[in-house]
Amino acid sequence: LLQGALARIEAARDLNAVTSLNPGAAAQAQAAQARLEAGEQLPLAGVPVLLKDNINAAGTQTSCASRILAGYVSPYDATVTERLVAAGAVIVGKTNMDEFGMGSSTESSAFGPTLNPWDTARVPGGSSGGSAAAVAACLTPVSLGSDTGGSVRQPAALTGVYGLKPTYGRVSRYGLVAYASSLDVVGPLARSAGDLALLMNVLAGYDPRDATSLHAPAQFRAGTPDDLRGLRVGVVRESLEGNTPGVEAALRGTLDALRGAGVTVQEVSLPTTAHAIAAYYLIAMPEASSNLARFDGMVYGARQPGADVEGSMTATREAGFGREVQRRIMLGTYALSSGYYDAYYSKAMKVRRLIAEDFARAFRDYDVLVTPTSPFPAFRRGEKTRDPLAMYAADVDTVAVNLAGLPAISVPAGFETVEGKRLPVGVQFIAPALQDELLVRLAGGLE
Ligand code: GLN
Repeated sequence: LLQGALARIEAARDLNAVTSLNPGAAAQAQAAQARLEAGEQLPLAGVPVLLKDNINAAGTQTSCASRILAGYVSPYDATVTERLVAAGAVIVGKTNMDEFGMGSSTESSAFGPTLNPWDTARVPGGSSGGSAAAVAACLTPVSLGSDTGGSVRQPAALTGVYGLKPTYGRVSRYGLVAYASSLDVVGPLARSAGDLALLMNVLAGYDPRDATSLHAPAQFRAGTPDDLRGLRVGVVRESLEGNTPGVEAALRGTLDALRGAGVTVQEVSLPTTAHAIAAYYLIAMPEASSNLARFDGMVYGARQPGADVEGSMTATREAGFGREVQRRIMLGTYALSSGYYDAYYSKAMKVRRLIAEDFARAFRDYDVLVTPTSPFPAFRRGEKTRDPLAMYAADVDTVAVNLAGLPAISVPAGFETVEGKRLPVGVQFIAPALQDELLVRLAGGLE
């Protein structure tokens, strides 16, 4: 299995989905084999897995697709890595991403952009675009990404695979390089709901090394159409505007399939989600400006010389961070500064609460909510790179979920043909906190 994955990665180098290989992969595969032969039950025996390059795996590069971490090799495993290896999985390598998770297209990477396997002139989404492209191109059957504002779900949708953003705290963040700690969560990408279930049974669980980790035992399985009967699904009214015809058609098709399976489908309004993008960026950027303060060339990665320590730090950060990361550090610092804190950060925190209350109200009448995952299918490379606000708007359907800490899944729902190419379209289901299992059952029931 490992040899097959390595051969496919080599053959698909043009996609630029993989940033480095794990030198310890063969040893992991042999260890899994030996444990199997000794009679151990391994739920992921020999399964090759790629990790987003912001997840630590001992002995592998962790770059976050940033020049500032050039040459950095993780001395330890993230909890998710440890759990995968304990289950028999083999960490094949790391995947490309937007630098530090900041972006929606995987174009903002020190390694250059990842290509979408469905149309190589287009982006795979982001920021976990390498993990999504890798699964879409069958380099490995599954991969891990991280989702701060949509970075697992949106690339899953744009590459035609399944992606789950777990409830905040359901999967440990220990060993995930922090972008915005109150929003970040590790999530799996796969080609079926069944594979998501296999992964989540391994990944989910309490971790004393993550202070926000939840005690909530998990038992995931992909459902059948029988699991759908009687569910009440709310279609989020605010997500019905501004979608391309193919996205509208895919959503309609999914709603028809749900009704056919005995699901009640009705529209529901989440009025505050209109402000979700503004609130998200006013929370994510300040958290990022604080989290990224540690990258000053003194402890990790590449150091630039300077006249004194401060000069070296300034030169290191100027040379090491890309434009989008620098923009966010500056805006985040500004929004936190004493004169502007009340107008920006504190206001955004209030909107965050109102958004969570919108969801809570909707979940009094509905088991699950549904929206498109993205208002459009994969866009062309370069199309949004000059306009940060246009790039931020790509997250319109996903960020509210992170602000409320809820679980959500992106499910392949059809295709839109654009300029002669069939591009995948995804639909997003959102559940109340800790009902991640329901989302995976539902996804299986729709397969
Ligand atoms: N695109 C969003 C951002 O740039 C979300 C990224 C993510 O989830 N890591 O912040």
